[in-house]
Amino acid sequence: MMRHKTRHPLLWLTALVMLFGLLPGLSLAEQAEAPAYPGFVLMEQSQFTLVNAAATLYEHEKTGALVLLLENEDTNRTFDISFRTPALNDTGVPHVFEHATLGGSKKYPSKSLFFNLSHQTYNTYMNAMTTDIMTTYPIASLSEDQLLRYADYYLDSVFNPMLMEDASIFSEEAWRYSLASEDAPLELAGTVYTEMKGAYTINTAARFNFFKTLFPGSVSGNSFGGDPQHIPEMTFEDLTNYHDAYYHPSNSLSILYGKLTQKAEFMQLMDSYFSAFEKKEFTFTDENYVPITEHTEVTHEFAVEAGSDTKNGAVVYLGYVLEGVTKEDEHVMDLLTTLINEPSSYFQQEMKKRLPAASAGCYYDNTTPEIAVVFSATGMNAEQAQDFRELVDEALIHIRENGFDKEAVEAVAAATRLELLLTAEEPNVGPNLLPSVAYSWTADGDVNAYQQYVDN
Ligand SMILES: [Zn+2]
Repeated sequence: MMRHKTRHPLLWLTALVMLFGLLPGLSLAEQAEAPAYPGFVLMEQSQFTLVNAAATLYEHEKTGALVLLLENEDTNRTFDISFRTPALNDTGVPHVFEHATLGGSKKYPSKSLFFNLSHQTYNTYMNAMTTDIMTTYPIASLSEDQLLRYADYYLDSVFNPMLMEDASIFSEEAWRYSLASEDAPLELAGTVYTEMKGAYTINTAARFNFFKTLFPGSVSGNSFGGDPQHIPEMTFEDLTNYHDAYYHPSNSLSILYGKLTQKAEFMQLMDSYFSAFEKKEFTFTDENYVPITEHTEVTHEFAVEAGSDTKNGAVVYLGYVLEGVTKEDEHVMDLLTTLINEPSSYFQQEMKKRLPAASAGCYYDNTTPEIAVVFSATGMNAEQAQDFRELVDEALIHIRENGFDKEAVEAVAAATRLELLLTAEEPNVGPNLLPSVAYSWTADGDVNAYQQYVDN
């Protein structure tokens, strides 16, 4: 599975607040006595109000691996381990690795175990996801005993995957040549190759071309899922080297969530896996990035099948690099982009009038080497890119001069409340929350980044 940029889901957060406002949580007084666990140093204790949880951060002494405990009364307990995994090129190594890790490990060599396990009683969620900056492995169960066994399975899979010795997993998951019959043409196959061939639309291509243009040389322009044109450039060694480089405890964050009575067992389990490694320094410098110094415009072609209707088939991206952005600015930017996306906003209304076939939106990005506000539109012709740019500029000037009207802000609040009622039905709070916490940690460098973001 591969997930594209997940933005801070404001609606979802508010829903969680509502949901957990109802659950009894641990008080700060109880939290004051965070226990010590062999091999770990207690770093920090706080309250994660959003999910009414006591948050305790530990650091593994030998490796610096981070472990965050989020304790509340939710019996749908979740374990998640994440690694910061930059995409160093367009071959999709992080994505292939995500698939390959669950293809068997030293202790659990059966390749079908993942699928067998995911159908067991009590198991509520089992997955792995690659994003642009990290790979995450969340798993949930209503039984704590079962979750402990699953955590063992996940930890062994990420740290000791069979892939390291078994090149057949590479050709299975990444790419290989296949022959349907003896004299059939040679064809490319492989789970990720096939998945990405389907997923690599003009939108995907436009997104990466855009980031390559806005942030030249930066890893943020690379396809973390894999560009089908480049996937076959990947070698088995690329994959094993990637594991050696990034699947290391010093580069990981593990999170345990829910009603926990076997914390000592979980901590001991993690210690046993982490301790096999020596501490390693990780710095993510994005060393080939060369900032642009002036307005830049680039057009890319996208191949389609002969005879396809290409009218209104273009994708247009427009971004602004922001300098000197503070945490507060990020908050404002988040709200601002949410409001601009509202159907009643000046921007959307003008879109409707002037580019009626198109649909557009915007968001702010804090995973790029510098923070950016990004507008994009689909359903227009390439020649209309200039019209789109003018419209965006005009909308920004309109906001500067007029602000937002109260009605628009209230409309956002009302939509949030509605969404909230629907999301409160959602059973998988842990599996949804933990990857967001890990994502914010990767983007921000602070384990509490998400917590601060939502609790403020
Ligand atoms: Zn996938």
